[in-house]
Amino acid sequence: MIDTKPLTVIFTPIIFIMPKRIGIFGCTGSIGTQALSVIDANPSLFSVAILTAHTNVKLLTEQALKYKPDIVVIGDESKYETLKANLANTSISVTAGEEALVAAAAHPEYDMMLAAIVGYAGLKPTLQAIECGKTIALANKETLVVAGDIVMQKALEKRVPIIPVDSEHSAIFQCLVGEQKNKIEKIVLTASGGPFLGKKPNFLVNVKRDHALQHPNWSMGAKISIDSATLMNKGLEIIEAKWLFNLQPDQIQAVIHPQSIIHSIVQFEDGSMKAQMGLPDMKLPIQYAMAFPQRIANDYPRFDFRKISQLTFEEPDIKTFRNLHLAMEALKQGGNMPCVLNAANEIAVFAFLRNRIGFLDITEVVERTMDKITFIAQPTLNDYYESDGEARNFAASLIQL
Ligand code: NAD
Ligand code: MG
Repeated sequence: MIDTKPLTVIFTPIIFIMPKRIGIFGCTGSIGTQALSVIDANPSLFSVAILTAHTNVKLLTEQALKYKPDIVVIGDESKYETLKANLANTSISVTAGEEALVAAAAHPEYDMMLAAIVGYAGLKPTLQAIECGKTIALANKETLVVAGDIVMQKALEKRVPIIPVDSEHSAIFQCLVGEQKNKIEKIVLTASGGPFLGKKPNFLVNVKRDHALQHPNWSMGAKISIDSATLMNKGLEIIEAKWLFNLQPDQIQAVIHPQSIIHSIVQFEDGSMKAQMGLPDMKLPIQYAMAFPQRIANDYPRFDFRKISQLTFEEPDIKTFRNLHLAMEALKQGGNMPCVLNAANEIAVFAFLRNRIGFLDITEVVERTMDKITFIAQPTLNDYYESDGEARNFAASLIQL
């Protein structure tokens, strides 16, 4: 007898999740190398499409041979020939220079830019990536300090998510998940206080680079380490927060929290506060931004409330650490002032790292440059480029005196 029952074929759908293709701009730095270790631990989630660095050809070559990206870019053009020769037997495209960085940002074959270049140099590639609709995992806070209005407007137009990597902003971002319709009353950015917490000008006047580079809780690149020691980092972060979360200056507060366990706090209209906590480890905000909205399991050390008995908080000493005051002033003034502050600070920190000026001179250079450069209330992108150039030249002229 013939079985007339219809044959039912059950298809079990097999879903292949393609790894997210990441372009790491600033791959040889502190954030870039930590991002690569997150990728090492999660090869099914992420692959590397682009690697860029400024001068470190040796490390860039090693990384390129290991991760086999489509493109590598070296910022410093004098290193191009060496890099090209090192990667001669591969199919990796090798380019060099500022324009090549911007061209790489427009590469069609990647999904997310990890913006981990330090300083103003990160602005143009990041803007280009937004223009091309790439999701941005943003470590490079200077991009928002210099041109936050233009960057966020462009991201809105292109419907590009900007996911913060900076630990404080990642904390705020995490606290805001599920709160889209609720108004923020205030945010509190925590700051460790850096290596010179509690010190006064008579101590700071003699501080040298090696001491200033030693951060108590975080291991970071040279520029951000100095910014943390002068509290300029918190100033830049207040400006970064304004743009990321669309806040007014008086809604943003900085508080010193030396243990770096609470990474930041959001206070809502009902007075309720949410904080995000954990041991200080940049791999956490990096992997959160890269995998968002997913969380990735890991075996990093955990914070244990039974072992740390005190979490403390105090007001920042802005009379001593005047950079924070200057950044708050720049934020209140708006226009091109944060861009000017940032440019002068980059020049001053560079000079301090080369033992050309003292620790307290950094503030002096920033303040005098802010006084000197013409204020523009509603700058265009070109105005920002010009203000940056003018401020750098003026700040450099002060240092040569
Ligand atoms: P870093 O100095 O360790 O690395 C910087 C990277 O940018 C390197 O790969 C370098 O080759 C590249 N680079 C430098 N100058 C360049 C230029 N002119 N053109 C192209 N590439 C250039 O810095 P980092 O500590 O990794 O910080 C990177 C960014 O992330 C900074 O904006 C910093 O404020 C931010 N951030 C860092 C940390 C941290 O823990 N390191 C935490 C929060 C935010
Ligand atoms: Mg930070």
